[in-house]
Amino acid sequence: MDRRSFLAASAALAAAPGSPAAGPASEELPFRQIHLDFHTSEWIPDVGADFRAEEFLRTLQDARVNSINVFAKCHHGYAYYDTRIAAKHPALKTDLLGEMVRVLKPAGIRVNYYYSLVWDVLQARRHPEWLQRERDGKTIGGPPTDQWPWLCMNTPYLDHVVRENEEILSRYPVDGSWFDILKQPPDGCFCQWCVEDRRKLGLLDTPEDLFRHNKLVARRVEDRLFQLTRKHVPGGAVFFNSRIIIGVRDELDVFSHIEIESLPTGGWGYTHFQQRVRYMRTLGKDVVGMTGRFHKSWGDFGGLKNQAALDYECLNFLANGVKVCVGDQLHPRGRLDPVTYRRIGRTYRKVEALEPWARGVRALTDLGVVSAAATNPERATNKIPTVDQGFTNLLLELHHQFDVLDADSDLSRYPVVIVPDEIRPVERLVRRLRDYVAAGGALLVSDRALLDPQTGQFALDLGVEYQGPGRYAQSYLLLKPEWFPAIDDQPYFLYQRGSAITARPGTETLATYGYPYFDRSPAKFSSHKQTPLGQRSPDPLITRRGKIIYIANPFFTSYALDGYGVQKQVVAALLERLLARPRVRTNLPSTAQIQVLEQPREKRVIAHVLYYPLTRRAPDLDIIEEPGLLTDVEISVRLEARPRAAYAIPSRAKIPFEFTSGYAACRLPRVEGHAAVCFES
Ligand SMILES: [Zn+2]
Repeated sequence: MDRRSFLAASAALAAAPGSPAAGPASEELPFRQIHLDFHTSEWIPDVGADFRAEEFLRTLQDARVNSINVFAKCHHGYAYYDTRIAAKHPALKTDLLGEMVRVLKPAGIRVNYYYSLVWDVLQARRHPEWLQRERDGKTIGGPPTDQWPWLCMNTPYLDHVVRENEEILSRYPVDGSWFDILKQPPDGCFCQWCVEDRRKLGLLDTPEDLFRHNKLVARRVEDRLFQLTRKHVPGGAVFFNSRIIIGVRDELDVFSHIEIESLPTGGWGYTHFQQRVRYMRTLGKDVVGMTGRFHKSWGDFGGLKNQAALDYECLNFLANGVKVCVGDQLHPRGRLDPVTYRRIGRTYRKVEALEPWARGVRALTDLGVVSAAATNPERATNKIPTVDQGFTNLLLELHHQFDVLDADSDLSRYPVVIVPDEIRPVERLVRRLRDYVAAGGALLVSDRALLDPQTGQFALDLGVEYQGPGRYAQSYLLLKPEWFPAIDDQPYFLYQRGSAITARPGTETLATYGYPYFDRSPAKFSSHKQTPLGQRSPDPLITRRGKIIYIANPFFTSYALDGYGVQKQVVAALLERLLARPRVRTNLPSTAQIQVLEQPREKRVIAHVLYYPLTRRAPDLDIIEEPGLLTDVEISVRLEARPRAAYAIPSRAKIPFEFTSGYAACRLPRVEGHAAVCFES
């Protein structure tokens, strides 16, 4: 161990949980966070009766937690602190927030307070006029249902919120604020204030103007609460949840950092985080990944996640270069569950051991992929668009290193940019793509991406002319074997309809259409499913012109809907042509992941391998029960120069490697769940 890495390692070991991160990266957020929910009905007695401040602190310290979001006001609308203006929970006798802050701060655990914005049951009952309203006047959520009511932030409720937060911030020495549920209905709010506001601003009820107005309302809230927090806590944390969609870029000046709430078994699914982090980490802010300790989702009392799943989710945050947060909910009586925190502690010890190699890192990526949410506003929600789901899984399974882009992303960082299926030709994106191609960048474009509805042609010269939807709804893919030598030569069915194109002179055809005898219909059908291949046509399906490859089929959407492996093989073969020297080559199976990070200050490149196979064991649940075991894993990582050393982290056990043609190649005899190799130069 050299002096520098010895110092880094011993600093990490010496750091007590919660002590400010040692070394020059101390401005980074803490790595081991808890988000502690507490939404407690007025019908529950003895709130906080079992809370003991010292025991609370000890439980967190034993679990190696060094930052926590604790609750000031919950979705029920109750305050858990001493207040002159807010509604303290009727069954709470102590000042819970005050007690938590009192013991956590001196122990060096960072404390942000949680405050629920749009969801507030109590205010919804007191002020039904503040509720968000649909076009027909119907309120969203709330009575008579048991769903959280949506209050509109464009009503006098905002002044009330600001007053309450002023009181919290002036009374408690917190490190920052954490605001939950800041959203307006995507179809616009039609409460009296919003209607009047839009009239004054000259905004119409069109989708574009409603989107603009929603943004404006959110922005006013963010500006006031950001300034208020920073007035009391200079440089403190300020975060607004529910805003972290593709398109948040223009709000980020009032965010201290980004948090990706993503509970894989709580409705988000395992792909959600993979797509989001690859976008959010490009925006220049510190990022936190947040999962939950629950078997399912928030509020799942008595539901506890498997240890292996918690390990995977948290180590995957690190492998993607972001901080780790686990969501929990405190029992109303106020005692943290010891079993939950033993489980979190086991995971957080692993995280802590890896931290010296996780500070100041950034992902090393080859590919940039434009998200459908970047140009299709209706896709810009907390959900992952189907096409994004498809390319995320496909590229992960191929072990490609990629980022997700919006229309304002810097393309020059990527040797290859993918523009999948349905990306609309918004002007600023087309301009960037044109410059990118002119500068020698390679493009993979599919189906209707960049198709201009005005002209009926592609907004960029792809070497083909668009002729309309595919001639048949049910067609076959005929690959030219010389282009796809690794794929068995046979007609492959296309489960989704694509586009008809003609190739311009000078454009090569890499695959053509096969057509059925006829399309299946009530009038004419054969057998159970699609009609067999009846005719091999010369009509182009995959083309290449210079460094631009075009696929006339929604391959990525189809991969999400149909999971057909040959589509992945085809994309793999095409990317091999466009990307001669990928960052990683490996023999890992498609169910394993590999992420490559660089730690520039320490002159290190780190490759994380994760193998935690998941299986679908309930209609909407993918379960990880134990780590998977791999033997003889081969990894080659492209590096600028021969590294001085390669070793496993955190053990620092030396790993033999060879360096040829710019690749450092090594073999890991055994990987159980997670392994990481550090190449040090
Ligand atoms: Zn409104």
